[in-house]
Amino acid sequence: MAKTRLRHLVVVLGDQLDPASAALDGFDPRTDAVWMAEVKGEGTHVWSTKPRLAVFLAAMRHHRDALRDRGFTVHYTDLDTPGNRGTLAAELANAVRTLRPTGLVAIEPGEYRVWQDVQGVADAAGVPLAVRTDRHFLGTVEEFQAHASDGRKQLRMEFFYRDMRKRTGILMDGLQPVGGAWNFDKENRGHFLKGGPGLTPEPISFPPDAVTRSAFDAVERHFPGHPGSLKHFDWPVTPADADRALADFVAHRLPQFGDYQDAMWTGRPYLYHARLGQAMNLKLLDPRRVLAAAEQSYRDGLAPLAGVEGFVRQILGWREYVRGVYWRLMPGYLDRNGLNATRPLPAAYWTGDTDMNCLRQAVTQTLEYGYAHHIQRLMVLGLFALLLGVDPKRVHEWFLAVYVDAVEWAELPNVLGMSQYADGGVMASKPYAASGKYIDRMSNYCKGCRYDPGKSVGDDACPVTTLYWDFLDRHEALLAPNPRTALQVKNLKRLTAGERSEIRAQGRRVTLKMCGG
Ligand code: SF4
Repeated sequence: MAKTRLRHLVVVLGDQLDPASAALDGFDPRTDAVWMAEVKGEGTHVWSTKPRLAVFLAAMRHHRDALRDRGFTVHYTDLDTPGNRGTLAAELANAVRTLRPTGLVAIEPGEYRVWQDVQGVADAAGVPLAVRTDRHFLGTVEEFQAHASDGRKQLRMEFFYRDMRKRTGILMDGLQPVGGAWNFDKENRGHFLKGGPGLTPEPISFPPDAVTRSAFDAVERHFPGHPGSLKHFDWPVTPADADRALADFVAHRLPQFGDYQDAMWTGRPYLYHARLGQAMNLKLLDPRRVLAAAEQSYRDGLAPLAGVEGFVRQILGWREYVRGVYWRLMPGYLDRNGLNATRPLPAAYWTGDTDMNCLRQAVTQTLEYGYAHHIQRLMVLGLFALLLGVDPKRVHEWFLAVYVDAVEWAELPNVLGMSQYADGGVMASKPYAASGKYIDRMSNYCKGCRYDPGKSVGDDACPVTTLYWDFLDRHEALLAPNPRTALQVKNLKRLTAGERSEIRAQGRRVTLKMCGG
């Protein structure tokens, strides 16, 4: 009997591990097969940390096994497969050559580069590629385009978010927002008092099983020189574990999340944060479940509206919004550099070796855990790179490499746009420039630092504060007409010419020390 020719080869990438993916719709185990591959190139095109590599490999291996348990044929190349070609494009091209499917099926990739690769393989082989809508998201790329093109002078997340609330009915009472306001952000900016956060609920733990340990082993053997450590690895890598992580957050940390979402504390990486971005971005966890659980907690009187609204805004608003911006503006978005920033990224971002305590704490935690919360990312790591004038593409590459939740559609607009203002104001209405006093208010980092956050010149001047004034000085013409930064420029103008000149000189010394000549 003649062997049936393979009908569909379903391409499943490392951030597409949704068991209910549209790519699997109509899958017939008799005629279709799944293709997955681990390749070195995906760990080296940015210099991925060990926690990030392990998260992807462990989750992919679990997904492979779960699909096989469901009766799917999965053609899976792992890093130890003899002759592994090292790139997704080369491995997929080989699979198409040897398996000879009549068509390829995929859902929309999360990265423009990868989409180009997959499409390029299909074109070269003359095999049709059916790209299906990713149902994981609450809105489609096309719906975002329609929103963005709807006669608006500028895009703003807040209006998109309100539209999403109305469309989905989440946190709505009929046509009105629950509580009578769309946004309770002002109530979500608390910091810890002198004694610190005290006891916080221990997050649920996910001890590695044999499959996850095999991923650790592969990371250590194939990426031995990569930064970071697997010592604290504790991430959900299956849908069942992701569900447990969600339930644990909602029960134990969501009630306090809003109050302390912007606060930072030495040695306390997680505090009240959800840490669900990684599970959602790998598609182990459906955002609808996350939103429903958070809303229910509010409706049951277990979590306050301000915190729940802030959390919902991150997922229903911000997460969907950055994806829309990414696909609307790629590929050119990657090359934007609105502030003409050209300096190299300081080596300290890869080592934590610096006498600036805030930077040392945030980098060290990042490398050890593959995690930092959004204020550590935006207002320590991103802020310092912005003030230094680091090339935004280098900053983007670093952020994409180090975090377990980092996928380009989510990371790029947040870093290049929001934190570095390199897109000229698409993502943010102003550069997020702040002095060391902000870090001092929101953390205890300055207490253990040799610098003084209140000083901009002198031996113990805080480099963040020096560069804050230097940044305002360098970009005065851009910032003065912006109503959101006009006050900062007004304060700059209060400095004498001599003070400004001293700040410039100190700024040059800080920059030289951090970035070299
Ligand atoms: Fe960072 Fe400045 Fe505070 Fe030191 S004093 S921890 S460098 S903000």
